[in-house]
Parts: sequence; C-alpha cells; structure tokens
Amino acid sequence: MKTWDVIVIGGGVIGLSLAWELRKQGASVLVVERGEPGHEASRAAGGMLANCADETPAALQPLANASAEMYPEFVHQLQDESDVNVDLRSDGTLLFVPPGNYTPDIHVATPLSTPLADIEPALARETGPAFLLQERSVCPRALTEATLKAAKHRGADVSSGSRVLSVNVVDGHVTGVTTEKTSYYASRVVNCAGAWAGMVGPCPFPTRPVKGQMVCFAMPSRELLKHVVRSPEIYLIPRSDGRLLAGATVEEAGFDKRTIPDTIQQLRRAAISRLPALSTAHVLEDWAGLRPGTPDGLPILGSTSIPGYFVATGHFRDGILLAPITARIMAQVIGGIRAEHDLAPFSVERFALRAA
Ligand SMILES: Cc1cc2nc3c(=O)[nH]c(=O)nc-3n(C[C@H](O)[C@H](O)[C@H](O)COP(=O)(O)OP(=O)(O)OC[C@H]3O[C@@H](n4cnc5c(N)ncnc54)[C@H](O)[C@@H]3O)c2cc1C
Repeated sequence: MKTWDVIVIGGGVIGLSLAWELRKQGASVLVVERGEPGHEASRAAGGMLANCADETPAALQPLANASAEMYPEFVHQLQDESDVNVDLRSDGTLLFVPPGNYTPDIHVATPLSTPLADIEPALARETGPAFLLQERSVCPRALTEATLKAAKHRGADVSSGSRVLSVNVVDGHVTGVTTEKTSYYASRVVNCAGAWAGMVGPCPFPTRPVKGQMVCFAMPSRELLKHVVRSPEIYLIPRSDGRLLAGATVEEAGFDKRTIPDTIQQLRRAAISRLPALSTAHVLEDWAGLRPGTPDGLPILGSTSIPGYFVATGHFRDGILLAPITARIMAQVIGGIRAEHDLAPFSVERFALRAA
C-alpha cells in the first residue's frame, strides 16, 4: 500500500504552492484535485499583489506584507523550475479615491508628483486624488501552471478528476482520504479546497463562495496602460502580452459561476470611462470565479482539533498575493515547527469561540 507524508486536498494556487514547498523540504506529497489543477478561483483572479492598507484587513497586514516581499524570489524560483513566465510586473498601482474619503498610509502610497497625463496619457482626466503604490502584479493562469509544473518537477504526485469525499480518521488520527474512485493514505492531510473546503469533512470550516466576474480586452497597443489602476468602480490590470483585465464584481451568488451579460457590459463601460481607448478594443473573453470567503474575511490557517488534519483556505480576495507566505507557514506547521507568524487570528477555533 503506497503512502505519502502529506495529502493536499485541492490543486489551486494555495494547494500547489504548499505541495511545492513541502517537496523542497523532502516530504512526499500527493495533491488530490477533483477537476483540473488551477482551474477554479486561482485561474479567475486578476493577479494584483495588493498588500496596501486600502485592500487588506489589518489582521492580515503582516502576512500580506511578508508575502509581497517574498514574491520576487518566489517567482524567480518558480520560473526557474517550471520554465513558465508568470509576468511579474513592478510598474506599480495608481489608486484613485473619492475626494475626502480616504487618507492612504503615506509609507506605502505617494501622492502623484507629476501630472497623471505624463504617467498614463491614455487615462481619462481625473477629478479625485490619485496615489502611486509600489505594488506588483502577476498572471494567475501562468502562476498556477508554474506552481503545478514546479511541484511535479520536484516529485509531487497529482491525482486529477476525482473529488475527495472524506478525510479518514482512525483512533482520532488522520489516515488519509477517500475519493470517488479510491483511497489514498497519509498521516497528514491539508484541506486547501478553496470555496469548497467546508464540504469536505470532518471539520465544519465556514467557507462560502464569493463570486467575481471579469472581462478581458485586447489593448489596441501594449503600451496603452503600464500601471494597475484601482478605483472604486473598476480595477484595470494590464498584462505584458497586450491583454487587459477589468473587474471584478463581489457577489453572494452561491456556487454559480455563470457570467451575466448585463454585468459584463457594466464592467466594460466602467473600464471605458477610465480608459477611453478601450471603446474600440476587442473583448477577448469574460469569466467568473468563486473566491473562498469566510465570516470575518480572514483566511483559516493551521492545525485542527484532529491530529494530522490541517487547513489552509479562505484567502478570499488575496489568495494570489498570500500564496508564498501560506506555503511557508503551513509547511512549518505541518512539519511540527513553530510558524514564523502568529496564526491565532487565522485559527479555525476562532469560529467556535465566537459561537460559544
Ligand atoms: C474574479 C476574481 C479576482 C481575484 N483577484 C485577485 C487578485 O487580484 N489578487 C489576489 O491575490 N487574489 C485575487 N482573487 C482571489 C484568489 O483568486 C483566491 O483567493 C485564490 O485563488 C484561492 O486559491 P485556492 O487554491 O484556495 O482556491 P481555488 O483556486 O478555488 O482552488 C481550490 C481547488 O480545490 C478543488 N477542490 C474543491 N473541492 C475538492 C474536493 N472535494 N476534492 C478535491 N479537490 C477539491 C477545486 O476544484 C479547486 O481547484 C480573485 C478571485 C476572483 C474570483
């Protein structure tokens, strides 16, 4: 009977990055993915590495900052081991805020010192304040492909196309998982099943899907927009290959991943009002994905009440940003080492304490 040191449930960016990290540390790993690895929320994401305070809950800030710092080296190693270019861009983000509404942290946000027209000539003239943030972006599709390839390159096993039905526990300790087709054996199992994490027993993780719709344009020229643009009504995220993503909605719509034509048109119109040259741009595709949400908007990270059973999910709007730090701290927890960050705010027990 084949056994692994660790079974990872879910082949999104969180599960794949963790599998890669565990392999680097010598653990044998099996990733069990019900569909195709990287084809859920991780593929749908915009790819902003938005660690600045306007986006990130305060309790998450230390992890967000640590992960943002790790990104260049994370990408360097990934690209080296996978031969996939993940389009890490460091041009920064232009943040537009409604007048009088928001005072950004001056450590991270700089008011524009040159006219907007000199920085991004194609953007519509702005009335409200604009700030420059030193944030990066990546292409999440390429990132998930790279993490999958790098994890395999390091010897991780991947089982695709069969859903985990149960996490098996014998005498109070994890022994593996049972899928629709077979059983796999490991003394440690990590639930990285994203929005679906709460559907896999035995712990009732309170995750829920939060739908996001996006639209993707072909820019008339690759230089049309250099910076990521973040404004209350729309985000614009340029890619080096000439694509430009605009999004995203934040909707409570259950596990429904369909796009709604009216919503896509609204996103398109909001994108054009910021970047008028998009009015003649070809729309390449639109899509929707399901962010893993939790009741307090924070991830669930660490061990559970069942020895050998761990969880890393609930990354909501920040899972691409948080992938490197999640992989590092979860590998520490699973390896029995004290995590380098305080995980108390992310413990699954916080929900039980609140309910009591
Ligand atoms: C529109 C949109 C825009 C976003 N933009 C950004 C952004 O700009 N920056 C950012 O940092 N984050 C962004 N996010 C959030 C980010 O995409 C998520 O936080 C992240 O992808 C979560 O990764 P994950 O691996 O936990 O989940 P997923 O990628 O959903 O992976 C979970 C995997 O588990 C599998 N699975 C589920 N149940 C089972 C089972 N029973 N057995 C086996 N496998 C199972 C699923 O098939 C899936 O592949 C965005 C999300 C959306 C939808």
